[in-house]
Amino acid sequence: MSRALEILNSTFGYSEFRHNQADIIDTVIAGQDAFVLMPTGGGKSLCYQIPALVRDGVGVVVSPLIALMQDQVDALKQVGVKAAFLNSTLNAEARQAVESDLRRGELDFLYIAPERLANDYTLQLLQRCTISLFAVDEAHCVSQWGHDFRPEYQQLRILAQYFPDIPRIALTATADKRTRYEIIEQLDLQQARVFVNSFDRPNIRYTLSDAQNSRDRLWRFIQENHPRDAGIVYCLSRKKVETTAHWLSGKGRTALPYHAGLPAELRQHTQARFLRDEGVIIVATIAFGMGIDKPDVRFVAHLSLPKNIEAYYQETGRAGRDGNSANAWMSYGLQDVITLRQMMQESSGSEEHKRITQHKLEAMLALCETVSCRRSAILGYFGESSADKCGNCDNCLNPPETWDATEDAQKALSAVYRSGQSFGVTYVTDILVGKDDERIQKNGHHHLKVFGLGKHHTQVDWRSLFRQLIAQGFLHINMERYGALQLTEKARPLLKGQEQLLARKLAIPKLAKKSSSS
Ligand code: ADP
Ligand code: ZN
Repeated sequence: MSRALEILNSTFGYSEFRHNQADIIDTVIAGQDAFVLMPTGGGKSLCYQIPALVRDGVGVVVSPLIALMQDQVDALKQVGVKAAFLNSTLNAEARQAVESDLRRGELDFLYIAPERLANDYTLQLLQRCTISLFAVDEAHCVSQWGHDFRPEYQQLRILAQYFPDIPRIALTATADKRTRYEIIEQLDLQQARVFVNSFDRPNIRYTLSDAQNSRDRLWRFIQENHPRDAGIVYCLSRKKVETTAHWLSGKGRTALPYHAGLPAELRQHTQARFLRDEGVIIVATIAFGMGIDKPDVRFVAHLSLPKNIEAYYQETGRAGRDGNSANAWMSYGLQDVITLRQMMQESSGSEEHKRITQHKLEAMLALCETVSCRRSAILGYFGESSADKCGNCDNCLNPPETWDATEDAQKALSAVYRSGQSFGVTYVTDILVGKDDERIQKNGHHHLKVFGLGKHHTQVDWRSLFRQLIAQGFLHINMERYGALQLTEKARPLLKGQEQLLARKLAIPKLAKKSSSS
């Protein structure tokens, strides 16, 4: 038996490696750099923990989440591994104790915040130690394009210069190609072996619909599919959490509320019951789920729209970890979209950041509105190609009602093309409905053939069509050009009338017309 497998069994108590863990671990043990892309919950930690234990010296783990360091260190200590952390929460005395353990070579693991690792003092300290490896967790934080950008992460490239002989392993669950490329570039990992895991969760069945009587439909869904199963119901607000939990309890289910406004003790108690008792439903805000490892959660329901596909994927991914069939069910309404947009607009981030979060929300909406396979849309979003039809999502199982949107799609695509593929959805939509707009006139776009050609639809209708065009890959949003729409190869046959586009019938726009605020 290999040393790695032995440690997996004896220290961590697991019988076999998952996915490509074994390959990754062997690579790092051999002293080679690695770049690991694995969905959340996939088992990234062991990919650096085991090589660090096999190799001589201390494994230095860079993590941006100071709040989680303590937990990670505690978990390691529990299995008899010597671990410590260095971050701003330690007082001088505690810090010195960790440093002297480090000097004496008594640590297997050192968790450290990026800004601390990159300072001269720490670098000198580490140069006097034997180091087994460097692990850069949540490596997407190095990417300026991502939503978790941490400037300190960019300093980590000096590791390659200071410690050329120590293997480095970077790990992330953020998969889009742009981010991937940036991580490799920024962390100087061109020589690293790249390991990409599929994000597919074939046992999860996706069902998404817009809200009409969402509560009643939730109840019917639970009654029909999960009368005795454990599950999680996500809501956007604390108030909705409370009322929904109360309502489900009234129906005779054990339904417990969970959100950040409840006392810590109660939250812990709730969590413990969920893990221990059978058939408990947790009704929660997104505060629930981090670090929860319950294999037999049979359903995750959303009573509101997640803010992006990453969040949706992560939250639904808590269902069916045991590999048995599970449901991801969602019912969303226009009000969620408005609330989320407002929250994003009012957030403290830069304009750039706001633009990215808005685009991500658009992509989430596009997933809701697509008439094609949900799974293939989700995987496509993460840069992964897959079969056109999965056979295990609502759209594959019950193809939705559609209308022939070919002609309108041609107008939309040609408005994008004729205005130079340099503008976002709002601007192009304004051209289509023939809006009297200064910018359009300055650019001379009121002379375009398509100007005003789409008056028969509202702007909201056009937005919906654009989302579907994006979701189906006819248009691409160029983030480097401020969200400008661009045609893809796929657009050509549609423009030439060689292909037909079917759009979803009852989508958000129908509801949107009633509202003035969107
Ligand atoms: P990630 O960091 O990718 O989100 P973790 O490393 O936290 O995932 O692992 C998720 C869960 O899976 C943890 O409870 C971990 O102990 C468990 N796990 C990881 N690898 C294995 C394995 N080979 N066999 C069984 N369980 C595993
Ligand atoms: Zn499908």
